[in-house]
Amino acid sequence: MSEAHAPEAEASRDFIREVITQDLKSGKTDTLVTRFPPEPNGYLHIGHAKSMCLNFGVAGEFGGHCNLRFDDTNPTKEEHEYIEAIKRDVSWLGFDWGEHLYFASGHFETLYKWAEHLIVNGLAFVDDQTAEEIRETRGTLTAPGTNSPFRDRSVEENLDLFRRMRSGEFAEGVRVLRAKVDMASGNINMRDPVIYRVLHASHPRTGDTWCIYPTYDFAHGQSDAIEGVTHSLCTLEFADHRPLYDWLIENLPVPSVPRQYEFSRLNLTHTVLSKRRLIQLVEEGHVNGWDDPRMPSLCGLRRRGFPPAAVRDFAQRVGITKSDNVIEMALLEHCARELLNKISLRRSAVLRPLKVVIENYPEGESELLEAVNNPEDEGAGQRQVPFSRELYIEREDFMEEPPKKFFRLAPGREVRLRYAFFITCTDVIKDENGEVTELRCTYDPETRGGDAPDGRKVKGTLHWVSAAHAVEAEVRLYEHLFTEAEPSLGADFLDGINPESIEVLEGCMLEPALAETPVGETVQFERQGYFAADPDGTPDRPVFNRTVGLRNTWAKLQASGQANT
Ligand code: ATP
Ligand code: MG
Repeated sequence: MSEAHAPEAEASRDFIREVITQDLKSGKTDTLVTRFPPEPNGYLHIGHAKSMCLNFGVAGEFGGHCNLRFDDTNPTKEEHEYIEAIKRDVSWLGFDWGEHLYFASGHFETLYKWAEHLIVNGLAFVDDQTAEEIRETRGTLTAPGTNSPFRDRSVEENLDLFRRMRSGEFAEGVRVLRAKVDMASGNINMRDPVIYRVLHASHPRTGDTWCIYPTYDFAHGQSDAIEGVTHSLCTLEFADHRPLYDWLIENLPVPSVPRQYEFSRLNLTHTVLSKRRLIQLVEEGHVNGWDDPRMPSLCGLRRRGFPPAAVRDFAQRVGITKSDNVIEMALLEHCARELLNKISLRRSAVLRPLKVVIENYPEGESELLEAVNNPEDEGAGQRQVPFSRELYIEREDFMEEPPKKFFRLAPGREVRLRYAFFITCTDVIKDENGEVTELRCTYDPETRGGDAPDGRKVKGTLHWVSAAHAVEAEVRLYEHLFTEAEPSLGADFLDGINPESIEVLEGCMLEPALAETPVGETVQFERQGYFAADPDGTPDRPVFNRTVGLRNTWAKLQASGQANT
């Protein structure tokens, strides 16, 4: 994980770090406690990574801790599968909640007691209106709501009814518990919000213990208070809920007072970051599951080959502000490319193979040549790659009638095979359709290692793989899942799906070392990009996902003034 920095160094990074610095200095806060509160109703996505990098980030920087709290108040949408997946993704991103694992459901008994506390103090009432009636009497942004006819029930009647709600006497929707705040408030969240409802549903953790469940708004702030959270950091859409959270905290016997600060959500081009939409993509089969490498889910990014440190770097560059904007996907890709350039092993892979026969190389023989593992990292050392009479090169590295600026292989032309020899194309073999199927070449044994002792130069350097030693593989190339930069703006976001977001290449030829790439490791295929070994592969037939290409599209956007960060 990132090292702890001196708090002074971080103070000015954003307004939240400034607030925390002040609160620690003034003694308002002794120890910083934050939380990351996912609802276990889907997998985490890159937007959640922004929230985690902030919450776990500041906890680490300022010597506090961050709770992982599952906000599991809605038993109908939640599943164990999601809880395990979320834990895996938080750990993958490099964060450790240690002993600070909580569930809102773990606080259900306290929350229930506090609901009774509100009733006893005349601050909550059982409403017999239907959901529709409640909606209709809520008022609008410009008109106040109207009081429920059940608003002035006695404390005794409210207590009795609420206890009977708990004991399972009523069907769903028949009765709810509402906070008694102010139906004329300019803030709709304050208009007697529902705080408990009947749900005859089994909960993944509490089973059938409960048939009434607190609403998110009732559970959230109180869970923070129970856990001693000092700074409750959330996205801007909760700013309007803050007055309600504060009202509840003021009126309940809470052991601590959390303060909420809001920042803008992450929006990213060419994708969607809403669990509802991501669930739709998965359930309707527009992608192959949550970990489809085109998904912005953390498990998708992992499978795609994005290192967690690149995701953290991205979050840091995006920063924390209160202004809404849309970040370019190219920035995320840039962060991956920059990191992978430093750490990834270089390997040869021929994606669209064309056979080359070196006619003056002895049949049945081979030799090993030294190749550099990573020119950016001397410590990565060297490896040996086999060379023999039959090789594969990239189909696009040969042209029979090359235009002026094409410096790669052509009839009669000499090029360098990287780490190996100079070769010259002597003959082109075609099938009955005129398609080139094989090249005949000669090599110069004097150029072993890739340099000519007589000092002669060649303009092209190609990657290659020895045919006899090659490992056949499938390689999956990805493009943006959405053609539109902002698919959410359209009437139906599905209309923006890119029909060419995946291209599967079969029969790719890899150098033998690639067969041993552990699943999840990302390597550079020289001249092609970064590729991660996929769990679908086997040692005999590996599968690789393209993480990102080599071209810096981010720099291009910046140069053209199109980048918006
Ligand atoms: P979604 O809108 O995708 O359904 P959510 O807000 O319902 O997300 P939660 O599980 O409630 O998902 O989110 C957990 C935490 O992550 C919350 O504090 C939420 O504010 C934060 N979060 C969710 N999406 C983003 C985002 N795009 N950018 C920053 N933070 C986010
Ligand atoms: Mg939510």
